[in-house]
Amino acid sequence: MVLERINFLKDEINKHNYNYYVEDNPTIDDFTYDQLFAELKKLEEEHPEYKTPDSPTQRVGSVSEKFFPYKHKHRLYSLDNTYNYEDLGIWYRKIQEEYGKDVELVCELKIDGLAISLTYEKGIFTTGVTRGDGVTGENITTNLKTIRAIPLKLFQDVDIEVRGEIYMPKTSFEKLNEENLKNGDKLFANPRNAAAGSIRQLDSTVTAKRDLSIWLYSSILENIPNPPKTHYESLMYLKQLGFRVNPNIRLCKNVDEAIEYCKEWENKRFELDYATDGVVIKVNSFAIQNDMGFTARAPKWATAFKFPPEEAVTTLEDFELGVGKTGAVTPVALLKPVLLAGSTVSRASLHNFEEIRRLDVRKGDKVLIKKAAEIIPKVIKVVETEDRESKRRYRIPKICPGCGSPLDMREGEVNLYCSNPDCPAIKKAKLEFWASKDAMDIDFVGPSIIQQLYDRNLVSSPVDLYRLTVDDLMTLDLVKEKSANNIYNAIQVSKTRSLKRFITALVIKNVGKETSDILANEYGTLENLRNASIEELAAINGIGEKMGKDIYEFFHDEKNIKMLEELNALGVVPPPVELPKSELFKGKTLVITGTLTGMTRDEANELIKKYGGKAASSVSKNTSFVVAGLNPGSKYDKAQKLGVIILTEEEFLEMIKAEEKG
Ligand code: NAD
Repeated sequence: MVLERINFLKDEINKHNYNYYVEDNPTIDDFTYDQLFAELKKLEEEHPEYKTPDSPTQRVGSVSEKFFPYKHKHRLYSLDNTYNYEDLGIWYRKIQEEYGKDVELVCELKIDGLAISLTYEKGIFTTGVTRGDGVTGENITTNLKTIRAIPLKLFQDVDIEVRGEIYMPKTSFEKLNEENLKNGDKLFANPRNAAAGSIRQLDSTVTAKRDLSIWLYSSILENIPNPPKTHYESLMYLKQLGFRVNPNIRLCKNVDEAIEYCKEWENKRFELDYATDGVVIKVNSFAIQNDMGFTARAPKWATAFKFPPEEAVTTLEDFELGVGKTGAVTPVALLKPVLLAGSTVSRASLHNFEEIRRLDVRKGDKVLIKKAAEIIPKVIKVVETEDRESKRRYRIPKICPGCGSPLDMREGEVNLYCSNPDCPAIKKAKLEFWASKDAMDIDFVGPSIIQQLYDRNLVSSPVDLYRLTVDDLMTLDLVKEKSANNIYNAIQVSKTRSLKRFITALVIKNVGKETSDILANEYGTLENLRNASIEELAAINGIGEKMGKDIYEFFHDEKNIKMLEELNALGVVPPPVELPKSELFKGKTLVITGTLTGMTRDEANELIKKYGGKAASSVSKNTSFVVAGLNPGSKYDKAQKLGVIILTEEEFLEMIKAEEKG
């Protein structure tokens, strides 16, 4: 029985290793893979008689035959990993027993890319090799030379071998997939596969076109005079030589500080423009490292804490149709519940019907789902194609699930729209949006309250919300006097939400949060905006003719005029936009990066606007200043590269203070 299971696991893992390392096309998610791996490891520990040297637990990765093999001078290892903090504590306590209480650790982000080794002779880059199976890799020197982040010459004439992770920035990965989609080429499932596929190209001109980068995290220092004695110092040394070393490394006194670091980065990593799947924790002292040594596949002095899975494989049980506030009818995948990024997920977005056709996803398929910064996970691809023929292809609906009216196509759009402007599902979606955090931000009024208000004919448009009485609200399920008062008060408070929120809440065609912000700043009051001509609107930077016409038509539609008058009469009047307090940042664009300590990012952006500047989210050559908080990410690097002035949070506040003083 046990042997059978062991053999099954070995075969499974070998199959997945091949798909992952050679084909760059995994068919299960990493979490599931790691579970299979952990099970095999445990069974082999319990039954050492079944442990064989060819077991995947005894080996690292895999090598393809695409390139010339290259035998590494020094082996490249993998890392042991864990998904829980208890294991980290156990690992550290064992080290303490041997080496005393205060063993320092270095925490680094675990970059989800492809491990490579670079050799420099007298400071000149000579050879670059993939990790492969750790003993032999693939010689990809020519391709690596196309990556600008890899120095061809170091600042010192040293002989050194360094290791690092090649990665593709998330934004470049998305762009690449968009292009591939347009050209009908294969889509990559994630940035790691895109990086691996790009670096292992036989034609290096293809690699050169892909935006790849690198972080270096270790080195072989045997030929260096007076070499550093700790890992942290060695990273600083790599930096001095001209290598890209991740700025988010941290020297920790003990495991508690390391756990603190892991917790901090579990959410903050989404702000980075590169994928990370955990934190690597390494013993700082080289003397202790040397003494501890390695197992068959990993160092004993390092371990990886892996973040809860962002990807998972599950069964698509059915499709559901949703009607949005714009009338767009979109498909949603109903899934067999699965654990993803720490929570159980049972729905995923499919975007539109074109996407279903592209993925050719069918009821009963096993699908890979992924959660990134957004809240709703999405279906990435079908991973099991067996038994396909017995499953029916998805049929695109012809009628609205909310009201049964026919669905319309709009020119140049992939979505289908309900053709009935009075569709109850659209009305409900608009109301939900009106009350939502992105729009009028009405506390306590979520989808279920809206549903009840609508079903009981108490509310059918935003105007009705402001006519509700506490008694009306007390007729809702489970709403007693106290919560009725809370809801009532929250609705009253929303009457004076900002003009930007008010415009967003109106759901004008093609006008989202950013355009609403532009309009609010341009016109200052609702009245001015309502009186704007098409020409005026079209002339605004970022609006244009088509949107200008949509906005104009919205404000001249009879039903909308009536609604705006009624809202006004009920006291729903956005206050005029405050004019900039000063011209300190006039004509300047500022970008915030990292964690600010004295204010939130939104507050800082408000300050920028208040002082006449523009707050942007990405750095370009047009950026005037970057305000860097703690642990700044890639925006900081980009600013440095472009020579943009970088301010600390204190310097930024100082500028404002000085301006205030006059
Ligand atoms: P790994 O990715 O778990 O850890 C070792 C690697 O981490 C190193 O080789 C290095 O490339 C990388 N790394 C990133 N940042 C680092 C840093 N700061 N310091 C040191 N190393 C750093 O190990 P692996 O052997 O490459 O792959 C095993 C993992 O790959 C599995 O745990 C699984 O998650 C995934 N995998 C998935 C499948 C699949 O089918 N889904 C198949 C095989 C492997």
